[in-house]
Amino acid sequence: MKPSQSRSMGKIKPCFYRRIFVLLLILFSAGSYGADSPWNGKSAAVSLTYDDALGVHIDNVAPVLAQNDLLATFYVTSNSWPLRSRLDDWRAIATSGHELGNHTLFHPCAGDKPGREWLNKELYLNEWSEQRYIGNLNINNTLLQALDGKTERSFAYPCGDTEVAGKSYVETITPMFTAARMVGGTPPTIDKVDLMRIPSHMVMGDSAEKLISLVEAGIKNHTWVVFLFHGVGGEHGLNVSKEAHAELVNYLGKHKKDVWIAPVTDIANYVKDKQKAKK
Ligand SMILES: [Zn+2]
Repeated sequence: MKPSQSRSMGKIKPCFYRRIFVLLLILFSAGSYGADSPWNGKSAAVSLTYDDALGVHIDNVAPVLAQNDLLATFYVTSNSWPLRSRLDDWRAIATSGHELGNHTLFHPCAGDKPGREWLNKELYLNEWSEQRYIGNLNINNTLLQALDGKTERSFAYPCGDTEVAGKSYVETITPMFTAARMVGGTPPTIDKVDLMRIPSHMVMGDSAEKLISLVEAGIKNHTWVVFLFHGVGGEHGLNVSKEAHAELVNYLGKHKKDVWIAPVTDIANYVKDKQKAKK
């Protein structure tokens, strides 16, 4: 080795270590969730979900989403009249890129819980067998596939109920869906997401300010905020005004820089990849 080479190596060394340090830093950042922008490079994630296949979802929701170029998840109960009577409209919703999620064929719920007086006895999930219930979900998946051509979708527990015949069915349906949405709970950070138990905020007469404040909290806490809507401008007892809903959607349309707004399955697949990489 020439003395000049040795001198130059001596000069290179600190630079070399600096490079290694930077490389390690990059590798470390890639392996982590990214402290300030863990959600696909954004501070928070938001999913807008609409349950029970109502006509107002076609008439009052889809146009506002389209104006803001946003995609959502519609949890479809195929026995609903607005689904059966407006198949072309639902097909158009799927073609626009929205997710059609499974919300069972008949919407059975536990009949032995308080406040379930409205429920038809035929739909008492606590009196169904698991086999009957899974068949119900399979047929709904098939109907939805006939509408959107997809074999991958998420699920929303009807009435938030996770038991059939007194036993949890969460594990049984895990291979059938990308994720499953619960009713209620606290928005999780990406490392805390349980894909078969995704919390949601059920909207009941909320003001636009209240809805927007939940997104702002998501941005601050880096969480996945999932909104659960039923009626939007009517058609369901659990309702929000058309105006408040539009104000939230318009707000989201203006904050795409900070918030990743996407259907549940898109975000669930992202979470799955990140959680796998972290293991
Ligand atoms: Zn429902």
